[in-house]
Amino acid sequence: MADMVAHHVADRPVGRSHSDAMVPPLITALAEIVGPGHVLADPPARAGFETDWTGRWHGEALAVVRPADTAEVAAVVTACANAEAVIVTQGGHTGLVGGGVPRARGCGDGRPQVVVSTTRLNAVDGVDTATAQLAAGAGTTLADAQRAARNAGLELALDLAARDSATLGGLIACDAGGLRALRHGTARRQLAGLRAVMADATVIDSRMTGLIKDTAGYDLGALLVGSEGTLAIITAVRWSLTPPRPARAVALVGLQTVADAVALARTLRPALPSLEVCELMLRDGMALTLAHLGLAAPMALSPVAVLLECAGAQDPMDELAAALADAGADQRAVSAADSAGRERLLAIRERHADAIAAAGVPVKFDVGVPLDRIAEFCSEVDQVVAAVWPRARVITFGHLADGNLHVNVLPADPGDIAASGDALDDAVLRLVARCSGTVSAEHGIGVHKVGHLQLTRAPAEIAAMLAIKRALDPADILNPGVGLPTAF
Ligand SMILES: Cc1cc2nc3c(=O)[nH]c(=O)nc-3n(C[C@H](O)[C@H](O)[C@H](O)COP(=O)(O)OP(=O)(O)OC[C@H]3O[C@@H](n4cnc5c(N)ncnc54)[C@H](O)[C@@H]3O)c2cc1C
Repeated sequence: MADMVAHHVADRPVGRSHSDAMVPPLITALAEIVGPGHVLADPPARAGFETDWTGRWHGEALAVVRPADTAEVAAVVTACANAEAVIVTQGGHTGLVGGGVPRARGCGDGRPQVVVSTTRLNAVDGVDTATAQLAAGAGTTLADAQRAARNAGLELALDLAARDSATLGGLIACDAGGLRALRHGTARRQLAGLRAVMADATVIDSRMTGLIKDTAGYDLGALLVGSEGTLAIITAVRWSLTPPRPARAVALVGLQTVADAVALARTLRPALPSLEVCELMLRDGMALTLAHLGLAAPMALSPVAVLLECAGAQDPMDELAAALADAGADQRAVSAADSAGRERLLAIRERHADAIAAAGVPVKFDVGVPLDRIAEFCSEVDQVVAAVWPRARVITFGHLADGNLHVNVLPADPGDIAASGDALDDAVLRLVARCSGTVSAEHGIGVHKVGHLQLTRAPAEIAAMLAIKRALDPADILNPGVGLPTAF
């Protein structure tokens, strides 16, 4: 993930190339709140915050501001509201749907956009072993939080390849899922409490005391799960941890068809309570990733592969091997119980996104499809893409047991995205709807899918969401244009 961090180019704080006369009053006000060193107004300093991880989404901010605590965040919200500027909250900058960078065509009504970066809200306050909860700033990276949990003898179960950059606040804001959601649920299930600054700059503490049970009123923290920076800025979280599962075993199983992979997932899930990773890969994606990593294939590449990991207090290798034998899949599998061997196998799946990014700017689809429609979806998606972009390369992989597929489309010509990316979005997301799926399984709606929310959400649901947005952010200053079609 080192390349991801490099998106944040060397900081040049406000003031270095602005004469005082040129500095807009909002920038002066922001600098008074957070200190001039934490307001980035020059284009080169802002650049790393203005283009998303994929390179597809880009917009211009008036400034990037980096508050140090909740009080500074609240003061920043007030200053932006007074200046009629809008706020794009940004955490680790690993989101894949364009929700964490400024809007390309402005926010629609000419208001300036200010990026509020949470990267300085990164203190781990501690781990409470009695409740098995970790308290930390919302800008804490997943990797740092996982380390703190491990140091306290517990585990933070959510895991994904962007762990070194993705932040706890971003994970909640997108309801991230990742590799181990089939056993531990998405961020939603692991959230114990949060603190947030609302659009009117008030601060709410939702279950931040660590109480396991608290049914007094609406669960405001839960409301912010998946809200993508449109309802509040999360500044701190309490995260539920799990007992450690230090013994792990990984297997890679080669198969002929996606239907075979789905059948294997269906058989193994009930047979293997220790199963926590069950991922789908196809030959093209595996070949690209192995070449990107400079690794030899661990076995002859088959058209389809399933990557499995079991974890527990005791070594789960025998259990995994027995389940594979019962499923008739043991002859086509390679496995590893040692840490280096496991990492090598896991990397083939985890580094798909990096390998694709190195090959070009992809159009990325994170979708959900019921298990019994996955094979149909995978065979049709290639044809649907080919009808729009005949020479594109399609690489599909995903979290098989969750029915969560990542379809990555690399256009033959990078200019195709601007010319007909919308047509591609429409074709693929309509296929998802025909397969009774969801247009977003774990990345959120962002700006990418805002026009397609209605494909898999009923009008009454969208109306309820709009009512919440209008009630909590009546001036539409928090991430306008993200998540919801025309909020105002
Ligand atoms: C290589 C790679 C692999 C990935 N794998 C997975 C995966 O397996 N599963 C998965 O679910 N995702 C995955 N992602 C996507 C991404 O990591 C997640 O969406 C993550 O939750 C984004 O967190 P972030 O801190 O980077 O948020 P950002 O990208 O900074 O922001 C994402 C959204 O959250 C909002 N936001 C961020 N912080 C806050 C806050 N404190 N308060 C309010 N709103 C906020 C932003 O406004 C934006 O709308 C992957 C990304 C990459 C690059």
